[in-house]
Amino acid sequence: MPWRDLPSQPLVCDLLQRALKNGRLHHAWLLCGEEAETEAVALAFTQALNCEKAPDDFCGKCASCTDIAAGRHPDVGALRAVSKSRQIRITQLRELERSVYLKAARAAVKVAILHTADRMNEAAQNAFLKTLEEPPPKTVFLLLTEEPQQLLETVLSRCLRVPFRPGADRPKNAREAQLEAWLDEFLARPSEIPAPFRAFGIASRFLGMLKTIKEEKQAEFAAEFDEAARESLEPAQRKAVEEQMDAQAQAEYLRERTRLLKGVLRWLHRRGAPPAALFQMEQLARALARNANEPLALEVAFLSILEAGGNLHRANTA
Ligand SMILES: [Zn+2]
Repeated sequence: MPWRDLPSQPLVCDLLQRALKNGRLHHAWLLCGEEAETEAVALAFTQALNCEKAPDDFCGKCASCTDIAAGRHPDVGALRAVSKSRQIRITQLRELERSVYLKAARAAVKVAILHTADRMNEAAQNAFLKTLEEPPPKTVFLLLTEEPQQLLETVLSRCLRVPFRPGADRPKNAREAQLEAWLDEFLARPSEIPAPFRAFGIASRFLGMLKTIKEEKQAEFAAEFDEAARESLEPAQRKAVEEQMDAQAQAEYLRERTRLLKGVLRWLHRRGAPPAALFQMEQLARALARNANEPLALEVAFLSILEAGGNLHRANTA
């Protein structure tokens, strides 16, 4: 299946194909977009780097193309977060690094694919940095992510960033759908209720949802480390492990919160909200990133959106 048959992201495919044609192969590419799309493009690029038949393109039929597609090519390594905590572990990275430093069995270019690269925690990213700084020759790293902002600046600066066009409507999860229903109810429906009460209404429901998410994440991570294992550790070790789990649970929580806030922003866009309302959401995201008081920041943001956004109401009744 050559480039031209890839269903989406024509600009990205064109960019990669031109890089191949011109022999301008950066050693690390950061593909930023929806998971399914970045995976499809990473696979295509890996095939195009090694296809035995089609120069700069890929046939999808030769031994190299089919082995890559089947995940059994000896010179193509891939890793993804496997543990229940959905983190990429340093040991996995070490394994991948070891394999890329081995002599290629048959590939022209060895490829290492890091799915959900943002699942590397800071320690893992720092461990990986050395390889990014001094990559082995004829090796290409493909880092795939939906959330490049989770990566360290030092990692980002060593990758060539390829932004994908935002996908069509990604399916909403139950919480995103619930949040939209509340937005409809509190922000868009005509109401005699004064704006501050409506802002408080939606902020408190949203906070309730966030609290549940936080508890779920903490329970998930606690379950990974059972009581028996906990008992077997020295107090200092136990404390360190618990702190690390808390940090991971918190990171997962923030990820979900970001996803929900993006949902609010999409909702506002769909409603034709004025720039002032959109600006309030950006302000909110910034304030929360600086650890602002969550309840207060949410109330203020929703109140400001209500005050900025008569359009929300009109869009609803039109
Ligand atoms: Zn081929």
